[in-house]
Amino acid sequence: MTVLDGKKASNDIKNEIKAEVDKMKERGEKVPHLAAIIVGNDGASLTYVGSKVRSCERVGFESTLIKMPNTTSEIELLDKIDELNQNNEIDGFIVQLPLPKQIDTQEVILAIDPDKDVDGFHPANFGKMALDMSTFIPATPFGILELLERYDVETKGKHTVVIGRSHIVGRPMSILMGRKGFPGNSTVTLTHSHTKNITQITSQADIIITALGVPGFLKAEMVKDDAVIIDVGITRVPDESRERGYYITGDVDFEQVSKKVSAITPVPGGVGPMTIAMLLKNTLLARERHRAAAKKKSMD
Ligand code: NAP
Repeated sequence: MTVLDGKKASNDIKNEIKAEVDKMKERGEKVPHLAAIIVGNDGASLTYVGSKVRSCERVGFESTLIKMPNTTSEIELLDKIDELNQNNEIDGFIVQLPLPKQIDTQEVILAIDPDKDVDGFHPANFGKMALDMSTFIPATPFGILELLERYDVETKGKHTVVIGRSHIVGRPMSILMGRKGFPGNSTVTLTHSHTKNITQITSQADIIITALGVPGFLKAEMVKDDAVIIDVGITRVPDESRERGYYITGDVDFEQVSKKVSAITPVPGGVGPMTIAMLLKNTLLARERHRAAAKKKSMD
């Protein structure tokens, strides 16, 4: 049984990105600059955004963290997004989700310049992804593809079952696994809370990707021998015995499922670190595109 070590793979990716950034510096070029907007004080969101910014420092990127109060109006946030869209110093930016209730998330995503949308959530980028065009692939699904590739997990002709159909993980994952190429060429089943007889479906799967946020949902009896399991779930379970007051767990009953399968991601240390590494990769791509566009413009 192979543990698909996202921590190690993400470190390797960060080292590769840092090497690219070092070369940019040697050539006297501008380095990638990622900005992140966070609205409110949600503990988990602050932790995620904090580690995204720290990762920027680690690979030599510039970074800007913009904190806005919980009472921020939609207009105020849209104005800030417009400012970042116009700012040529910023190559890419993200708006950390979820947003407070008074703000319409769809409006926010639509306001981001697709060329700076390193989360890949804008419909223009999502559409390109579905059409196999070069684009920013949402970081979590992109991280899963990268992990499958680095561990050389065969996906061609396999039956992949995705559990959860969110716009940021499950749905894009189902599209990507069915695309031509590697990783891809899978036969995909996308399941959700209305799926009937889910055990019947998961027990036929060669690859299962869980993204539902229900701790321990996937049990050993739902999985066939030698399947590959990718656990995207991250749930904070309150635990007074721990200093920080909680522990983190995934959607898979790791202890029992890991005894049956050929490969599995741990939580923490699986998909989570890959997500951050791929956000950096998208930011590097954004910088390269902006540099190429500026060069083309100067030659016109
Ligand atoms: P989400 O928006 O919370 O949606 C959950 C999805 O799971 C929905 O599609 C829902 O179905 C489905 N679902 C819920 N209960 C189900 C059940 N009993 N059987 C089958 N399907 C069920 O999803 P998300 O934002 O993708 O988050 C999912 C999990 O991944 C969370 O734990 C989140 O923290 C984690 N996450 C991790 C990363 C990472 O970097 N590792 C990144 C993003 C999210 P309906 O559509 O029918 O409601």
